[in-house]
Amino acid sequence: MPQAICRLCLQHRELKESHIIPAFVFRWLKETSGTGYLRFSDKPNLRAQDGVKEYWLCGCCEQLLAEEAETPFANEVFHPLCSEEKVSVEYGPWMLKFAVSLSWRAAHFLCSRGELTHFDDQQKAALIEALERWRLFLLGQVPHPGKFEQHILPLHGEISDWPGGAPPNLNRWAQRNPEMDIASSPGTCYVYVKLPRFLFFGFIKVDKPKDWMGTKVRVKGGRITPSAYQLPAGVGNYLKYRMIRCSQVQLRISVRQKQRINQTFRDHPDRVANSDAFRALRRDVLAFGKQRVLRADDET
Ligand SMILES: [Zn+2]
Repeated sequence: MPQAICRLCLQHRELKESHIIPAFVFRWLKETSGTGYLRFSDKPNLRAQDGVKEYWLCGCCEQLLAEEAETPFANEVFHPLCSEEKVSVEYGPWMLKFAVSLSWRAAHFLCSRGELTHFDDQQKAALIEALERWRLFLLGQVPHPGKFEQHILPLHGEISDWPGGAPPNLNRWAQRNPEMDIASSPGTCYVYVKLPRFLFFGFIKVDKPKDWMGTKVRVKGGRITPSAYQLPAGVGNYLKYRMIRCSQVQLRISVRQKQRINQTFRDHPDRVANSDAFRALRRDVLAFGKQRVLRADDET
Protein backbone atom coordinates (compact mmCIF):
# COMPACT_ATOMS: atom_id res chain seq x y z
CA MET A 1 0.00 0.00 0.00
CA PRO A 2 1.52 3.38 -0.96
CA GLN A 3 2.00 6.07 1.69
CA ALA A 4 1.17 9.54 0.40
CA ILE A 5 -1.02 12.59 0.95
CA CYS A 6 -4.74 11.72 0.97
CA ARG A 7 -6.50 14.06 -1.46
CA LEU A 8 -9.46 14.57 0.84
CA CYS A 9 -8.08 15.06 4.38
CA LEU A 10 -4.59 16.08 3.13
CA GLN A 11 -2.93 13.88 5.79
CA HIS A 12 0.07 11.67 5.02
CA ARG A 13 -1.44 8.19 5.28
CA GLU A 14 -1.58 4.74 3.79
CA LEU A 15 -3.79 5.06 0.72
CA LYS A 16 -6.44 2.64 -0.51
CA GLU A 17 -7.30 1.94 -4.10
CA SER A 18 -10.66 3.52 -4.85
CA HIS A 19 -12.94 3.86 -7.84
CA ILE A 20 -13.61 7.13 -9.64
CA ILE A 21 -17.12 5.96 -10.52
CA PRO A 22 -18.31 3.84 -7.55
CA ALA A 23 -17.80 0.06 -7.58
CA PHE A 24 -21.52 -0.70 -7.05
CA VAL A 25 -22.20 0.74 -10.54
CA PHE A 26 -19.85 -1.75 -12.19
CA ARG A 27 -21.15 -4.66 -10.11
CA TRP A 28 -24.69 -3.83 -11.20
CA LEU A 29 -23.69 -3.41 -14.87
CA LYS A 30 -21.99 -6.79 -14.82
CA GLU A 31 -24.94 -8.54 -13.13
CA THR A 32 -27.44 -7.07 -15.58
CA SER A 33 -25.40 -7.27 -18.78
CA GLY A 34 -26.79 -10.60 -19.96
CA THR A 35 -23.25 -11.70 -20.86
CA GLY A 36 -21.68 -11.27 -17.39
CA TYR A 37 -19.07 -8.91 -18.79
CA LEU A 38 -18.66 -5.19 -19.10
CA ARG A 39 -17.54 -3.13 -22.00
CA PHE A 40 -16.44 0.45 -21.73
CA SER A 41 -16.58 2.86 -24.53
CA ASP A 42 -12.90 3.84 -24.52
CA LYS A 43 -11.81 0.22 -25.00
CA PRO A 44 -14.70 -1.52 -26.73
CA ASN A 45 -12.68 -4.63 -27.56
CA LEU A 46 -11.72 -5.43 -23.99
CA ARG A 47 -14.29 -6.96 -21.69
CA ALA A 48 -13.39 -4.74 -18.75
CA GLN A 49 -14.11 -6.28 -15.35
CA ASP A 50 -14.10 -3.09 -13.39
CA GLY A 51 -13.91 0.69 -13.61
CA VAL A 52 -10.93 3.04 -13.26
CA LYS A 53 -9.20 3.00 -9.85
CA GLU A 54 -6.61 5.28 -8.23
CA TYR A 55 -4.69 5.41 -4.91
CA TRP A 56 -6.11 8.72 -3.72
CA LEU A 57 -7.82 8.31 -0.36
CA CYS A 58 -6.91 7.05 3.09
CA GLY A 59 -9.05 4.37 4.71
CA CYS A 60 -10.93 6.90 6.89
CA CYS A 61 -11.88 9.12 3.94
CA GLU A 62 -12.85 6.14 1.80
CA GLN A 63 -15.12 4.94 4.61
CA LEU A 64 -16.56 8.43 5.12
CA LEU A 65 -17.62 8.70 1.47
CA ALA A 66 -18.97 5.14 1.43
CA GLU A 67 -21.14 5.68 4.52
CA GLU A 68 -22.26 9.25 3.98
CA ALA A 69 -22.75 9.17 0.21
CA GLU A 70 -22.39 5.97 -1.79
CA THR A 71 -24.26 3.41 0.29
CA PRO A 72 -27.43 5.49 0.79
CA PHE A 73 -27.46 6.51 -2.90
CA ALA A 74 -26.98 2.88 -4.01
CA ASN A 75 -29.69 1.51 -1.68
CA GLU A 76 -32.28 4.26 -1.84
CA VAL A 77 -31.98 5.62 -5.38
CA PHE A 78 -29.80 3.61 -7.72
CA HIS A 79 -31.05 0.06 -7.18
CA PRO A 80 -34.79 0.84 -6.77
CA LEU A 81 -34.85 2.94 -9.96
CA CYS A 82 -32.49 0.78 -12.05
CA SER A 83 -34.47 -2.37 -11.23
CA GLU A 84 -37.61 -0.38 -12.14
CA GLU A 85 -39.34 -1.43 -8.91
CA LYS A 86 -40.03 2.27 -8.34
CA VAL A 87 -40.36 5.35 -10.54
CA SER A 88 -40.06 7.92 -7.78
CA VAL A 89 -37.95 8.07 -4.59
CA GLU A 90 -37.16 10.49 -1.76
CA TYR A 91 -33.57 11.47 -1.01
CA GLY A 92 -31.86 12.85 2.05
CA PRO A 93 -28.87 15.17 2.58
CA TRP A 94 -26.58 12.30 1.48
CA MET A 95 -27.60 12.92 -2.14
CA LEU A 96 -25.65 16.16 -2.29
CA LYS A 97 -22.62 14.42 -0.72
CA PHE A 98 -22.84 11.73 -3.35
CA ALA A 99 -23.14 14.22 -6.24
CA VAL A 100 -20.22 16.28 -4.92
CA SER A 101 -18.08 13.18 -4.42
CA LEU A 102 -18.68 12.20 -8.07
CA SER A 103 -17.82 15.69 -9.36
CA TRP A 104 -14.78 15.94 -7.10
CA ARG A 105 -13.32 12.55 -8.06
CA ALA A 106 -14.10 12.92 -11.78
CA ALA A 107 -12.57 16.42 -11.92
CA HIS A 108 -9.38 15.21 -10.20
CA PHE A 109 -9.20 12.24 -12.53
CA LEU A 110 -9.71 14.25 -15.72
CA CYS A 111 -7.19 16.88 -14.56
CA SER A 112 -4.64 14.12 -13.90
CA ARG A 113 -5.18 12.88 -17.48
CA GLY A 114 -4.50 16.36 -18.89
CA GLU A 115 -8.03 16.80 -20.21
CA LEU A 116 -8.33 20.51 -19.48
CA THR A 117 -6.60 21.91 -22.55
CA HIS A 118 -9.88 23.53 -23.65
CA PHE A 119 -10.17 25.56 -20.40
CA ASP A 120 -9.30 29.24 -20.36
CA ASP A 121 -7.47 30.79 -17.35
CA GLN A 122 -10.72 31.91 -15.70
CA GLN A 123 -12.18 28.43 -15.96
CA LYS A 124 -9.00 26.86 -14.57
CA ALA A 125 -9.11 29.22 -11.59
CA ALA A 126 -12.79 28.39 -11.04
CA LEU A 127 -12.00 24.67 -11.10
CA ILE A 128 -9.34 25.02 -8.41
CA GLU A 129 -11.85 26.93 -6.28
CA ALA A 130 -14.57 24.34 -6.93
CA LEU A 131 -12.33 21.41 -6.00
CA GLU A 132 -11.46 23.02 -2.67
CA ARG A 133 -15.06 23.92 -1.87
CA TRP A 134 -16.20 20.39 -2.71
CA ARG A 135 -13.40 18.92 -0.57
CA LEU A 136 -14.43 21.02 2.43
CA PHE A 137 -18.10 20.10 1.93
CA LEU A 138 -17.27 16.37 1.81
CA LEU A 139 -15.39 16.74 5.11
CA GLY A 140 -18.35 18.57 6.68
CA GLN A 141 -16.38 21.80 7.07
CA VAL A 142 -18.79 23.94 5.00
CA PRO A 143 -22.59 23.44 4.93
CA HIS A 144 -23.11 23.41 1.14
CA PRO A 145 -21.10 23.63 -2.10
CA GLY A 146 -22.04 27.30 -2.70
CA LYS A 147 -22.07 28.36 -6.35
CA PHE A 148 -20.50 25.03 -7.33
CA GLU A 149 -23.96 23.49 -7.42
CA GLN A 150 -24.82 19.90 -8.24
CA HIS A 151 -27.56 19.01 -10.69
CA ILE A 152 -29.12 15.66 -11.53
CA LEU A 153 -31.16 14.55 -14.51
CA PRO A 154 -32.83 11.15 -14.01
CA LEU A 155 -33.16 9.03 -17.15
CA HIS A 156 -35.07 6.04 -15.79
CA GLY A 157 -37.99 4.45 -17.61
CA GLU A 158 -38.53 4.18 -21.33
CA ILE A 159 -37.39 7.19 -23.36
CA SER A 160 -39.21 7.45 -26.67
CA ASP A 161 -37.98 10.86 -27.81
CA TRP A 162 -35.46 13.58 -27.00
CA PRO A 163 -35.66 17.32 -27.64
CA GLY A 164 -34.17 17.89 -31.09
CA GLY A 165 -33.98 14.16 -31.84
CA ALA A 166 -31.47 11.51 -30.78
CA PRO A 167 -29.48 8.66 -32.32
CA PRO A 168 -31.02 5.16 -32.14
CA ASN A 169 -28.91 4.12 -29.13
CA LEU A 170 -30.73 6.60 -26.85
CA ASN A 171 -32.10 4.02 -24.37
CA ARG A 172 -28.91 1.95 -24.31
CA TRP A 173 -26.88 5.09 -23.60
CA ALA A 174 -29.36 6.31 -20.95
CA GLN A 175 -29.82 2.98 -19.18
CA ARG A 176 -26.35 1.50 -19.37
CA ASN A 177 -23.41 3.69 -20.31
CA PRO A 178 -21.10 5.07 -17.55
CA GLU A 179 -18.84 7.96 -18.55
CA MET A 180 -17.33 11.24 -17.37
CA ASP A 181 -16.07 14.44 -18.90
CA ILE A 182 -15.42 18.12 -18.24
CA ALA A 183 -17.39 20.25 -20.66
CA SER A 184 -16.81 23.92 -21.39
CA SER A 185 -18.21 26.59 -23.63
CA PRO A 186 -18.29 30.40 -23.15
CA GLY A 187 -20.25 31.07 -19.95
CA THR A 188 -20.63 27.42 -18.97
CA CYS A 189 -18.32 24.75 -17.68
CA TYR A 190 -19.14 21.75 -15.56
CA VAL A 191 -18.07 18.25 -14.61
CA TYR A 192 -20.28 15.66 -16.24
CA VAL A 193 -20.66 12.17 -14.78
CA LYS A 194 -23.06 9.70 -16.28
CA LEU A 195 -24.18 6.59 -14.40
CA PRO A 196 -26.71 4.10 -15.68
CA ARG A 197 -30.03 6.07 -15.67
CA PHE A 198 -28.60 9.24 -14.08
CA LEU A 199 -26.72 12.30 -15.28
CA PHE A 200 -24.83 14.41 -12.76
CA PHE A 201 -23.47 17.88 -13.39
CA GLY A 202 -21.09 19.70 -11.02
CA PHE A 203 -21.02 23.41 -11.80
CA ILE A 204 -17.56 24.94 -12.16
CA LYS A 205 -18.55 28.18 -13.84
CA VAL A 206 -22.12 28.57 -15.01
CA ASP A 207 -23.23 32.14 -15.77
CA LYS A 208 -26.96 31.37 -16.01
CA PRO A 209 -27.79 28.67 -13.41
CA LYS A 210 -31.51 29.59 -13.61
CA ASP A 211 -31.63 28.10 -17.12
CA TRP A 212 -31.36 24.69 -15.41
CA MET A 213 -34.89 23.93 -14.19
CA GLY A 214 -35.89 21.18 -11.76
CA THR A 215 -32.42 19.60 -11.71
CA LYS A 216 -30.70 21.13 -8.66
CA VAL A 217 -29.77 18.69 -5.89
CA ARG A 218 -31.17 20.16 -2.66
CA VAL A 219 -29.07 20.45 0.50
CA LYS A 220 -31.65 18.98 2.89
CA GLY A 221 -33.30 16.46 0.59
CA GLY A 222 -35.82 16.14 -2.21
CA ARG A 223 -37.42 13.78 -4.65
CA ILE A 224 -36.31 12.02 -7.84
CA THR A 225 -39.33 11.70 -10.05
CA PRO A 226 -40.08 11.62 -13.78
CA SER A 227 -41.24 15.25 -13.82
CA ALA A 228 -40.42 18.11 -16.15
CA TYR A 229 -36.77 19.07 -16.30
CA GLN A 230 -35.22 21.69 -18.50
CA LEU A 231 -31.59 22.10 -19.50
CA PRO A 232 -30.04 24.94 -21.54
CA ALA A 233 -30.00 24.18 -25.30
CA GLY A 234 -26.19 23.98 -25.35
CA VAL A 235 -26.26 21.22 -22.72
CA GLY A 236 -28.90 19.32 -24.72
CA ASN A 237 -26.62 19.46 -27.77
CA TYR A 238 -23.68 18.30 -25.69
CA LEU A 239 -25.66 15.26 -24.47
CA LYS A 240 -26.59 14.40 -28.03
CA TYR A 241 -22.89 14.49 -28.88
CA ARG A 242 -22.22 12.07 -25.97
CA MET A 243 -24.85 9.64 -27.32
CA ILE A 244 -23.38 9.76 -30.83
CA ARG A 245 -19.89 9.27 -29.43
CA CYS A 246 -21.10 6.25 -27.46
CA SER A 247 -22.73 4.69 -30.54
CA GLN A 248 -19.62 5.27 -32.67
CA VAL A 249 -17.42 3.54 -30.13
CA GLN A 250 -19.83 0.60 -29.98
CA LEU A 251 -19.55 0.34 -33.78
CA ARG A 252 -15.80 -0.15 -33.48
CA ILE A 253 -16.26 -3.55 -31.82
CA SER A 254 -14.35 -6.00 -34.02
CA VAL A 255 -15.88 -8.93 -35.88
CA ARG A 256 -14.15 -11.37 -33.50
CA GLN A 257 -15.58 -9.57 -30.46
CA LYS A 258 -19.05 -9.62 -32.02
CA GLN A 259 -18.71 -13.37 -32.51
CA ARG A 260 -17.87 -13.80 -28.82
CA ILE A 261 -20.91 -11.73 -27.80
CA ASN A 262 -23.15 -13.71 -30.16
CA GLN A 263 -21.82 -16.99 -28.75
CA THR A 264 -22.72 -15.86 -25.23
CA PHE A 265 -26.21 -15.00 -26.50
CA ARG A 266 -26.58 -18.47 -28.03
CA ASP A 267 -25.29 -20.26 -24.90
CA HIS A 268 -27.50 -18.35 -22.43
CA PRO A 269 -30.61 -17.13 -24.29
CA ASP A 270 -32.85 -16.77 -21.19
CA ARG A 271 -30.26 -14.84 -19.22
CA VAL A 272 -29.79 -12.46 -22.13
CA ALA A 273 -33.52 -12.03 -22.85
CA ASN A 274 -34.27 -11.13 -19.21
CA SER A 275 -31.33 -8.79 -18.78
CA ASP A 276 -31.46 -5.02 -18.39
CA ALA A 277 -29.09 -4.69 -21.36
CA PHE A 278 -31.60 -6.47 -23.58
CA ARG A 279 -34.45 -4.36 -22.19
CA ALA A 280 -32.54 -1.24 -23.28
CA LEU A 281 -32.03 -2.67 -26.78
CA ARG A 282 -35.72 -3.59 -27.01
CA ARG A 283 -36.68 -0.03 -26.06
CA ASP A 284 -34.46 1.41 -28.78
CA VAL A 285 -36.09 -0.93 -31.30
CA LEU A 286 -39.55 0.23 -30.16
CA ALA A 287 -38.58 3.91 -30.26
CA PHE A 288 -36.57 3.98 -33.50
CA GLY A 289 -37.61 0.86 -35.42
CA LYS A 290 -35.73 -2.38 -35.90
CA GLN A 291 -34.24 -1.25 -39.17
CA ARG A 292 -32.54 1.84 -37.77
CA VAL A 293 -31.26 0.16 -34.62
CA LEU A 294 -29.95 -3.02 -36.24
CA ARG A 295 -28.60 -1.31 -39.36
CA ALA A 296 -26.53 0.99 -37.13
CA ASP A 297 -25.17 -2.08 -35.30
CA ASP A 298 -24.19 -3.82 -38.54
CA GLU A 299 -22.27 -0.95 -40.08
CA THR A 300 -18.81 -2.25 -39.16
ZN1 LIG B 1 -7.99 11.01 4.13
